Amino acid sequence: MKAKMKTHVIVKTHELALKGKNRPWFMRHLVNNLRKATAGTGVSKVWQGHMLVGLSLDDESVWPAVSDRVRECFGVAKFFKAYEVPVDLDIVKEVLPGFLGDRNFQSFRISANRADKRFPVTSEEINRDLGTFVKDLTGARVDLSNPDLEVFLDVLSSGILLYFEEVRGHGGLPVGVSGDVMTMLSGGIDSPVAAWQMMKRGCRARFTHFHSYPLVDRSSIEKAVELASHLNQHQFASSLSLVPLSDIQKQIIVSTPPAYRVILYRRFMVRITEILARLQGAKAIVTGESCGQVSSQTLENIAVIDAVADMPILRPLIGLNKEEIVQMSRGMGTFAISIQPDQDCCSLFVPKHPETHARLETVVKLEAGLAVDELVEAAVANTEVREVATSRSGAYSGASVS
Ligand code: ATP
Ligand code: MG
Repeated sequence: MKAKMKTHVIVKTHELALKGKNRPWFMRHLVNNLRKATAGTGVSKVWQGHMLVGLSLDDESVWPAVSDRVRECFGVAKFFKAYEVPVDLDIVKEVLPGFLGDRNFQSFRISANRADKRFPVTSEEINRDLGTFVKDLTGARVDLSNPDLEVFLDVLSSGILLYFEEVRGHGGLPVGVSGDVMTMLSGGIDSPVAAWQMMKRGCRARFTHFHSYPLVDRSSIEKAVELASHLNQHQFASSLSLVPLSDIQKQIIVSTPPAYRVILYRRFMVRITEILARLQGAKAIVTGESCGQVSSQTLENIAVIDAVADMPILRPLIGLNKEEIVQMSRGMGTFAISIQPDQDCCSLFVPKHPETHARLETVVKLEAGLAVDELVEAAVANTEVREVATSRSGAYSGASVS
């Protein structure tokens, strides 16, 4: 009997339910994202039910592949493998022993939900009727607050969905509902985590990477491509802007004291990122900075760097410790990519002890000797914008990072 049942994945959301009038808009994004995420894995149909999204599977064997994809879709709070039986409680009783036989539980609850109110038996009555049935069958007791096993039953007009263990998703909002952000993506550990956090809040992340090729090799570019491709599994279309910084760096090293170089690099990066963000329709800049982690991340230096931006600069990791960020990056699967060695543009021509308390007047004076606008324009003109394809490289630990 079990082999002949149709199998579905039932997806439930958290906050989306709370969004009132916006709910259809969120659900539409979630449905579209789930459709893209599971393309090619054996899903025959993605459909929207009452407060849930369903994915019909070609057959049960595709569940592991589909579930890997669904888990990485933001907006999914939890999901289940569900079996569809005809709308008949006697058939439910026929198949239940087959499902319960190999499960070990001392207590249980039945959670019925009658989406089709034309079904003549109320949810309460179903709970009571099946509760007695399962109690007699297994000897387990009913526990409504903390059961070992929860048996879910959704009565739809087309069939009854029967499901058991939940799989946790990351929650959050479907990518696309919050608009675009431009992420400054280094090859390091932090910025991919920052991008992930914003994607989790419904933003589509665009990426900008600064490199010093040909002063150094292309290793940081390759890492940025790899990181963006890995992150693309959450949003299905990503652009990566590769910006050459070497001409600007050459100008900075001949005219500024070493202690100020990183700050000047950063101010140029932000100016260029903001232009690229506007050109690509992004509404904010995102960085992986965390307070006090390195010299450029003191409050004074952040203020001096922010002074060149009109757009908000979002720093989702600002209050996190490095260990916390590392743990998140392991969970996301980007850590293995981030720790590969590279030749990062910001380590070029900088001293061991850079300025930690930069003063805006000093920086402005130093920049007065540079053709700032021309340098920025040239860098934008020489930027290569790439579309990246999804790669699922990097060890996925299976840990939830939310
Ligand atoms: P990360 O691990 O993200 O590189 P970090 O601890 O190395 O961070 P910094 O190198 O000071 O810190 O960089 C701070 C932030 O500035 C990064 O998180 C990133 O958003 C941005 N950034 C730094 N270097 C680059 C780069 N080459 N291209 C784009 N953005 C950069
Ligand atoms: Mg870095």
